[in-house]
Amino acid sequence: MERNNRLCRICGEKMPSTPFMSCSACLQDGEKVRAYIVKHPFKTPEEIADATEVSIETIKKLVERGTMTRFQLKNMDRVM
Ligand SMILES: [Zn+2]
Repeated sequence: MERNNRLCRICGEKMPSTPFMSCSACLQDGEKVRAYIVKHPFKTPEEIADATEVSIETIKKLVERGTMTRFQLKNMDRVM
C-alpha cells in the first residue's frame, strides 16, 4: 500500500507521513509568519509577506487552514 500519499494542506505538494498538516517548508513559513505577527501585531499582510519572505498566497492559506490563532487572525482579515 502506498503510504506516502498525503498532501500538504498549504502548498498541496506530496509530503511524507508526519503528525503535521503541512510539509516542513510550509511549517517553517508558518513559524516565521507567526513569530513576526507576535512581534509586530499591527503590520499589514504586505509588510508581513515582505519581512518574512512568505508569499501573501501562503499567508492567506495559513489563515484559511486555521494555522493562525484567533488573536493573529484579527490582524489578518485584510488579506481575506
Ligand atoms: Zn507545503
